Amino acid sequence: PCRVVSGIQPTGIPHIGNYLGSLRQWVDIQNSIPSSSSSQCFFFIADLHALTVPQIPHDLYQRRIDMLAILLSIGIDPLRSTLFFQSEVPYHTELNWLMGCHTPMGHLNRMTQWKSKLQLQEMDAVTFFNTSLASSGQFNLGLFSYPVLQAADILLYGATHIPVGKDQTQHIELTRTIARKINSTYKKDLFTIPDIILNSSSSIMALKQPNKKMSKSDQNSKNYILLTDSEQDIRKKIAGAATDNIEGITYGDVNRPAINNLINITAAITDSSPIAIAEKFKHSKHSEFKSSIADIVVGSLSPFTKSYQQWKANPTELQAIAADGAKKATDQAYPFVKNFKNTLGLGV
Ligand code: ATP
Ligand code: MG
Repeated sequence: PCRVVSGIQPTGIPHIGNYLGSLRQWVDIQNSIPSSSSSQCFFFIADLHALTVPQIPHDLYQRRIDMLAILLSIGIDPLRSTLFFQSEVPYHTELNWLMGCHTPMGHLNRMTQWKSKLQLQEMDAVTFFNTSLASSGQFNLGLFSYPVLQAADILLYGATHIPVGKDQTQHIELTRTIARKINSTYKKDLFTIPDIILNSSSSIMALKQPNKKMSKSDQNSKNYILLTDSEQDIRKKIAGAATDNIEGITYGDVNRPAINNLINITAAITDSSPIAIAEKFKHSKHSEFKSSIADIVVGSLSPFTKSYQQWKANPTELQAIAADGAKKATDQAYPFVKNFKNTLGLGV
C-alpha cells in the first residue's frame, strides 16, 4: 500500500511556482490513486511550522483559511484525501516530543534551513549559540527543532512516500535516520521508513529578476503570479516581465534566462516540452509571445480563482471540511502514538 503525506505552510497565497513545483503534484498523486484502494493521501496545512517565525495572529488565522480554500479550489478532494490543519491534531506535537527525546542535537545542527532562515553562512551551533543573535527572539527553539516536528508529521501516518522539492530532502533524510534508530533501539518496526518522491521540475524564476527563484516573500509583487491574481493583474505582470535584446524565441540559451523562464512556465502549465513551445513561437516578437503566454496562464488559473471565490464565500462549509479532516487524521494518529508510548513504557 502507498501512503503519501505532505504539508504546506499557511504563509500566503501560493504563486504559480508553488503550484507547478509542488501543489499540482499533490492533486496528480491524489487522482492517480484508485479511490477504492487502501492507499491514502494526507495533506495538511502546517500552521504549527508557521509559528517558527513571528506571526500576527489575525493574519495567520486568515491565511490558514485562505490556504484551505486554495487547496480545495485546485482539486484536493476531501473525500479522497485527508485534508486538515496540523494544529487541530494534537498528536503531531506529542510525537514531536517523543521523537525529540531520541534526536541528537548534532543532527539538527547540520540542518541548513535554520541557518538560511537566519541568513547565516555555514556555522556550527556551538559558535552560533555564543552570538547575540542566538539569544534574540529571532532564534527560537522551534526554528531549530522544526525538522523533528516535520519527522513527526510524516511518521505519524506511516507515510511510504513523501513528495518534496530539493530544499526539503535533508529533512526527510533526517526523518529516515531517526525512525531507523528508534526501530533498532526498541527492536520493533514502529516506524515506516518513507521514500522521497523528488520533484525535479525546474524552478520557476522571478518575472522581473529571472536569476532568482519566484518567491512569495519577494518584496516586489511584479515578480510573482499568485493563484488568486485577477486576469488584469496576470496580464500586467506578464507584459512587464523581463525579456532580452535577442530577436525571436529560443530555449535553453544561458544568456536568455527571462525567455527560458517564460517558456518553462508555459511548458509546465500546458504539459508540453519547452522545445516545442520555443519552436511554435520562434518568429514571434517578445510582446506577441508574452501576450500568448498571458492567455494560457489566465485560462489555466481562472477556474481556480472562480472556485476559490466560491469556497471563500462559504466559511461554514470550510469549517466542516476542516473538522472532518482533523477527525479522520486523529483516528489514524491516535493508535500509532498510543502504541509508541506503550513501547516507551508510558500508558496504563
Ligand atoms: P518563501 O519565500 O516564504 O520561502 P516560497 O515561495 O519559496 O516561499 P515555500 O513555502 O518555501 O515557498 O515552498 C513551498 C513549495 O513550493 C516547496 O515544495 C518548494 O519546493 C516549492 N517552490 C517554491 N518556490 C518555487 C519555485 N519558484 N518554483 C518551483 N517550486 C517552488
Ligand atoms: Mg522557500
